[in-house]
Amino acid sequence: MRLVLLGPPGAGKGTQAVQIARAFGVPQIATGDIFRHNVRNETELGRQAKSFMDRGDLVPDDIVIGMVKDRLGQDDAEKGFLLDGFPRTVPQAVALEDFLASENRPLDVVLRFNVPESEVVRRIVNRRSCPNDGSVYHLEFAPPKVEGVCDECGAELIQRKDDTKEVVLHRLEEYHAKTERLEYFYWERGLLRDVESVGPVEEVTKRTLALLDDIEGLHDGSGLGDTTDDDDEEATGA
Ligand code: ADP
Ligand code: ADP
Repeated sequence: MRLVLLGPPGAGKGTQAVQIARAFGVPQIATGDIFRHNVRNETELGRQAKSFMDRGDLVPDDIVIGMVKDRLGQDDAEKGFLLDGFPRTVPQAVALEDFLASENRPLDVVLRFNVPESEVVRRIVNRRSCPNDGSVYHLEFAPPKVEGVCDECGAELIQRKDDTKEVVLHRLEEYHAKTERLEYFYWERGLLRDVESVGPVEEVTKRTLALLDDIEGLHDGSGLGDTTDDDDEEATGA
């Protein structure tokens, strides 16, 4: 399974990505997590990305594209992958499409996570993140078992520097200006599927996995874009 998760910040991509990656046995490739890891370790890549991230701007395409190609070339991505937070611009989507076509392993599906914008801000400002393994929590909707501590690895949870109301409003502007058009890009290719990302987290997971099971049953490894049957009507145009 080769898939992309699309949706504004706070849509629940990271939360669901963990479950999908586990269910399908593919690596979760979250560009935001990779950048944060590099910032923490003070690498050259981290140094290049940091100021963009702190402001809520997108990191320049050439930096992100090179990083993702490297990651997709690693052994564990051979059996499939889940991209969370990439692509975010048309040039990134085109570069990904060209790269995957050259290796004859096209995308199977792009899931668009839908959530009302008012909900996004509420989710983001109360998000808490594990700096160690990337798990996400919410003070109200998904609290950790022990306050301030990651359930999975015991690390101390942090509030991301860019998870303030001011920065998230700018990230939403970036989403509308640069990322939203990818909905049409993938709809045109017959790859876009919608997930309503509201209600309890477990319900969203069930909905998502059911959709992916259907897709896995439908396609033969050549990609949804090649199917011509009536499942196309599930996709909605932007
Ligand atoms: P994204 O990766 O799209 O930015 P996250 O998965 O990090 O989104 O979720 C953003 C915040 O919303 C987190 O604090 C998470 O715990 C919370 N969250 C995720 N899914 C839901 C949901 N279905 N209902 C309520 N809160 C949610
Ligand atoms: P969220 O899903 O909460 O918006 P991410 O963790 O995916 O946040 O990304 C955090 C920041 O990392 C973004 O605001 C941006 O600065 C940078 N970033 C992550 N992925 C990309 C990308 N594909 N292109 C450009 N910048 C990116």
